[in-house]
Amino acid sequence: MLHLTAVRREACNRYGLYLSTVDVTFILKHVTGSLAARFIHAIRTTASGTNMTGQSRGPKVLVFLRIAFLSLILVLVVLLLVATIRTFSLDVNSGLQLGKWERTAIIPEHISAAQREQLLSNLKEAIQIPTVSFAENDLNTTALQEFGRFLQRVFPAVFSSPLVKHEVVSNYSHLFWMPGSDSSLQPYMLLAHIDVVPATESDGWDAPPFSGEEIDGFIYGRGTIDDKNSVVGILQALEYLVERGYVPRRGFYVGLGHDEEVGGHNGAKSIVKLLESRGVSLAFVLDEGLALLDGVISNLQGPVALIGVTEKGQATVKLSVTALPGHSSIPPRETSIGILAGAVTRLEKNPMPMLFGYGPERSMFEHLAYKFTLPLKFIMSNLWLFSPLLGRIMERRPEMNAFVRTTTAVSVFHGGVKVNIIPPYAEAFVNFRIHPAQTLQEVLELINGMVDDERVNIELVDGFDPLPVSSYDDESFGYQLIKKTVLDMFPHVTVAPGLCIGNTDSRHYTTLTKNVYRFAPVWFKPGDTKRFHGVNERIGIKNYEDSVFFYFKFIQNCDVRELPEPHGSLHEL
Ligand SMILES: [Zn+2]
Repeated sequence: MLHLTAVRREACNRYGLYLSTVDVTFILKHVTGSLAARFIHAIRTTASGTNMTGQSRGPKVLVFLRIAFLSLILVLVVLLLVATIRTFSLDVNSGLQLGKWERTAIIPEHISAAQREQLLSNLKEAIQIPTVSFAENDLNTTALQEFGRFLQRVFPAVFSSPLVKHEVVSNYSHLFWMPGSDSSLQPYMLLAHIDVVPATESDGWDAPPFSGEEIDGFIYGRGTIDDKNSVVGILQALEYLVERGYVPRRGFYVGLGHDEEVGGHNGAKSIVKLLESRGVSLAFVLDEGLALLDGVISNLQGPVALIGVTEKGQATVKLSVTALPGHSSIPPRETSIGILAGAVTRLEKNPMPMLFGYGPERSMFEHLAYKFTLPLKFIMSNLWLFSPLLGRIMERRPEMNAFVRTTTAVSVFHGGVKVNIIPPYAEAFVNFRIHPAQTLQEVLELINGMVDDERVNIELVDGFDPLPVSSYDDESFGYQLIKKTVLDMFPHVTVAPGLCIGNTDSRHYTTLTKNVYRFAPVWFKPGDTKRFHGVNERIGIKNYEDSVFFYFKFIQNCDVRELPEPHGSLHEL
């Protein structure tokens, strides 16, 4: 509980809402204080039946009811007034983009028709190399090697430039370093991963998953949005920049991991170790994660860019029961299977606490509030009042429930050997995805309390805490540069911080920087999210071209020495 209070306070500060919340608390305290005094007085006089003037009990009850009713109306009016003011004054999409940015993105973007053709064929070819990760020790290493040769062939300027240092890490991962002309500026890093999850054509693909085939303006194939679009997109942007004589002012790294889909334990982790050994510290890291959403969030007007500022943690827990074997003709009251079934049922029946409002999901809705239609706009602008209500609504749908709590998934259950033998052993695996307002330790304690059966052995197989929340205020260098570049490219988009439900390679980079952001400029329309790791993964041709120019602009934008003064503070001078 203490922990939650601390989180809430910290959260309020982070969202810049602490003052307004204090104001509201102050008002409510006074209103409720005077109400309480009236209430006590009324109770006393009503209980005694008469007051000093000797009036009877009947009219006193009426007076009490009247006071109570009027007070209730007063509280409601005050709440409504505060809520309405917030509804129409909250516009968090303004900010630094109105400040005077130093203009560093000056290299012309134009490419010829032949270059455009080449740009698309590079992505298609990348998709055709089946760099599949099946398991941690089962990668398609032949494809990974071929992919390395492919990169050298299609990006000759990058690989031959004396300004770009390239090295292979852990056999198949790639690290690039482009030093800046001003070594006093802290470098940053772009991440992407080469490997993909498996795909089978017979699952219903419109084009073979490793074909890179073009249908109706889309390129189909495994890796088109996860994450070869970023791998080839970043290097394509770098190729154009190097060809045009670009010399960065701020140095930067590009890290391409080869085993992200199975944990990044050899790729990303080795790159991090190498950079640590060289004493590198980074201004920020930008990896894949969240994206551009158009029509995906219901009742939201216009598209939105979500920048992931944290990721959920994980816990995989093994529950097991050992019992004496015997013949099924003389069974005990409960077998190991029955005991274990009881334990997993208790875990499913008792979801982890609802934490909506304690993590960055609250800030996401507050940033988007002014884009919602009424009455949602009213609710989203006033989460200080409505977050318990909204949380209850969200938890009803599995895809929204994932944002409001640590989720529980009983995913494996084994037990029994033969119909006439009492099972000597049963085991189950449960996968928890930990909400940013909870820790792995807290989740383990809750699991112990829920199972509450000494006969069930509980063992943590694998787990980690949710990732720290990266800053996203007006002074957050990386966040503001991503936001600025998104708005340079897509001026009609609303930018907001978000929570990643899945995990990325960037979780291994927390020793190099506190500022990890997860965003790739991929458009998702309704129904597209299920293409991620699913059937018919694809990217629009225009979308991929925009991705290349997003990184092209972003790298140049990062050459600013510092962020501009916020618009507001200029006004106050
Ligand atoms: Zn990925």
